[in-house]
Amino acid sequence: MDIVTAAAPPFFKNGYLVSCEETKEAVCIDPGDEVDDLVAHVQAEGLTVTMILLTHAHLDHITGVGRAKAAFSVPIWLHRDDLFLYDGIVEQGRMFGLTLERQPPVDQFYAPDQRLMFGRYLVEVRHAPGHCPGGVCLAIGRSDQAARELFVGDTLFADSIGRTDLPGGNQALLLKSIREQLLVYPDETIVHSGHGPDTTIGDEKGGNPFLR
Ligand SMILES: [Zn+2]
Ligand SMILES: [Zn+2]
Repeated sequence: MDIVTAAAPPFFKNGYLVSCEETKEAVCIDPGDEVDDLVAHVQAEGLTVTMILLTHAHLDHITGVGRAKAAFSVPIWLHRDDLFLYDGIVEQGRMFGLTLERQPPVDQFYAPDQRLMFGRYLVEVRHAPGHCPGGVCLAIGRSDQAARELFVGDTLFADSIGRTDLPGGNQALLLKSIREQLLVYPDETIVHSGHGPDTTIGDEKGGNPFLR
């Protein structure tokens, strides 16, 4: 699995390209203001992006969806419970004093226990509400192996958890999602968060003050 990440001001939200080293097929996760860097990497490496996968629809995770769609011409996937946020991007921007543009329509909604493939890799979509109603964790690994890496959006960070003071947030539900959807993975499992550095399930089980 090849992973490239980029982040840009003002939110420094991590956008990801995850690709299969054998087939060069890739998925683009949460394209935001850093999307031009991701598109340039796709072109430089000769990757074929097959899906735009959203962990959730807060503004910082979707401001680059239109540019990604224009560059890759592939389906946009989202959990249906976050459609009100996606469709409300202009209103979300106003809350932060930003003038944002509407994004192209969502093409596909994740089904319960949705599984998607790119190259030799499997994406298992786990609904993890709490930071927002339609948050998901994308567990990605080779389809012939058990190991996964987790792309968790703003559900879990190194030493912290997602904020729950925005519309649809619920801290009790968030903690339940983290326990039932994320902490079930082995300690060595790598966690790629929506902001800040990577961590592991074991490090967060041991040291995250919100999970004690
Ligand atoms: Zn968020
Ligand atoms: Zn975020």
